Amino acid sequence: MRLHPSASRAAVPLLAITLASGACAARRPTLQTPGTSGPATAFIDPHVEIEDVRLEESVLAADSMQGRLTGTAGMHRAARYLAEMFDHFDLEPAGEEPYLQHLPLAWSAAAGNRELQLLNAWTDTTAIPAGRRAVGVNVVGIMPGNDPELRDQVVLIDAHYDHLGTADSGMCRAAAGDTVCNGADDDASGVVAVLEIARDFHRGPPPKRTVVFLLTTGEEVGLLGTRWYIDHPVLPLERMVANLEIEMIGRPDSLAGGAGKAWLTGFERSTMGDMLTAAGIEIVADPRPAQNFFERSDNIAFAMRGIPAHTLSSFNLHTDYHTVRDEDSRIDYAHMTEVIRAAVRAARLLTDGPAPVWKPGGRPDPNSR
Ligand SMILES: [Zn+2]
Repeated sequence: MRLHPSASRAAVPLLAITLASGACAARRPTLQTPGTSGPATAFIDPHVEIEDVRLEESVLAADSMQGRLTGTAGMHRAARYLAEMFDHFDLEPAGEEPYLQHLPLAWSAAAGNRELQLLNAWTDTTAIPAGRRAVGVNVVGIMPGNDPELRDQVVLIDAHYDHLGTADSGMCRAAAGDTVCNGADDDASGVVAVLEIARDFHRGPPPKRTVVFLLTTGEEVGLLGTRWYIDHPVLPLERMVANLEIEMIGRPDSLAGGAGKAWLTGFERSTMGDMLTAAGIEIVADPRPAQNFFERSDNIAFAMRGIPAHTLSSFNLHTDYHTVRDEDSRIDYAHMTEVIRAAVRAARLLTDGPAPVWKPGGRPDPNSR
């Protein structure tokens, strides 16, 4: 999750900085079709195992991942782990290397300012001194839809796996001897949700629409991975009918109803929220609209393209946000697993149910910014 725009205008230290698999012995879930008529919206009871959630989360938030700062060795290590997981779930590889979509970056030239910039093209790197070049990586895989009528349509399920790095990055402040901003909640938790959704599609029935699973880099430093993806989508954006992002679901939010509950950004803007609640998925509208969460993560870039795009979260404004205290030891795994079950059901509804549409006035206007 990016800083609130008002915070990034203030004197923020440095720049505006601005989710292994356990043995899956579980059998395929039973498929129930509610009612006997109408479009068969497959309704799945997702078997998300807390042990899988705990394992994946602890890998991503480990000190050895060095806070997963975009362009660093820690980020590349995390990307390799996530690519292995996508392979484990039999997603179709996308990207130049299996599951890896690279993007050209440059560190800013200004002394003392470690700002990352997304280059327009790989050829632009020739003008950048070698010491300032960096490479970002999005992790992307595809689960083809199986319905002849719907499989050309695409649902994007995403989360960002980058975070703020270590104290020597300048974006993470050391405290009490701890020098790693682990980003357990922000957003290893969302990445684990994406992995578990992929696991569910792997062991359950295939989706009707095609699903692109995208784990982005560069969110914390200006949505760089998503900006690159939008210019280099693995399937045409014109075929994308919905985007569900998952951000910061590691701790319960009392304003969302407490443990196991989550909220959806921009709930009132499209029919997605109503669709999910009508299906019995317990989500509420974002309880803190003044925080502008709808515009503070990767979904906004897709919404600006006209695609109904929302973020599922339970961020409770905890003060460990963007600090070294955002650790996996502080994750509420029972809560997080329950929210992931809701996210799996939401993803199933988006792939097999009606496509969401903007409500009147709900679509963000790119010209108004
Ligand atoms: Zn963040």
